[in-house]
Amino acid sequence: MPSYAWSCLSCGRSNAPASERCSECGCPAAPRSSQIEEARRQYMQRGGTLENDARMATTWDPDPMGLLIKLFLALLLGYWPRRSDER
Ligand SMILES: [Zn+2]
Repeated sequence: MPSYAWSCLSCGRSNAPASERCSECGCPAAPRSSQIEEARRQYMQRGGTLENDARMATTWDPDPMGLLIKLFLALLLGYWPRRSDER
């Protein structure tokens, strides 16, 4: 069991250090991804609502092209790396 207060990976609720499972949705403290999905699905079926953080975690979609474009623009505009001989 965790020795620290933890946030449920399924529903986002805070849980006491000694708890093995989320008091809200029953998801284990250290779940596999399939257990997160299962706990979340059952919790939603019971009419539960997810915290904003938990919702974000499911919909967050990394955008590698966007990151590349930002990096390219930073290089192009000279923000990074800074030239050490520049006064
Ligand atoms: Zn939970």
